Amino acid sequence: MTTNRGRKDVIRNRMTSTGESYNVAARNLKAMKDMGATREAVVTQRWQPAETLDVPCPCGGTCEPGEKCDHCHARHRHVARYPGSRTEVETWVDCYDCMGCSSSYTITVVLPGRPWGVAETVIQGASAEPVIRATVFPGVKHPLLRPETPDED
Ligand SMILES: [Zn+2]
Ligand SMILES: [Zn+2]
Repeated sequence: MTTNRGRKDVIRNRMTSTGESYNVAARNLKAMKDMGATREAVVTQRWQPAETLDVPCPCGGTCEPGEKCDHCHARHRHVARYPGSRTEVETWVDCYDCMGCSSSYTITVVLPGRPWGVAETVIQGASAEPVIRATVFPGVKHPLLRPETPDED
């Protein structure tokens, strides 16, 4: 279950960063499911980890460099990415594995313009209050939300 407050925050965050009104921000967030956003989201998630740290990370360089391992002093490598929030569609979790031992960690990142889904305004409840509902793009695996077909209701 996602709280209404979290969904509204998605719109408010956009209003803050773009200066748009609530309705315009909500409409633009909805429009993001067009314009190849789905394809970009799949590309953002689906890539193979680099063979070595000498080449740019295949995720597109949108990650932090891996930290040095406390145990074996090798470096950690960016190995995976998945959506990291139920309502913040630009929030992802990056997974890092040590190149030398079994150490690993994850960090939360915000990738502006690289949403894993779309936040839509829906009217809910007797008060007819608009709330934000996040829908995962087809082809994106979300650990917290099930994939949905856009416009399905
Ligand atoms: Zn990366
Ligand atoms: Zn290590």
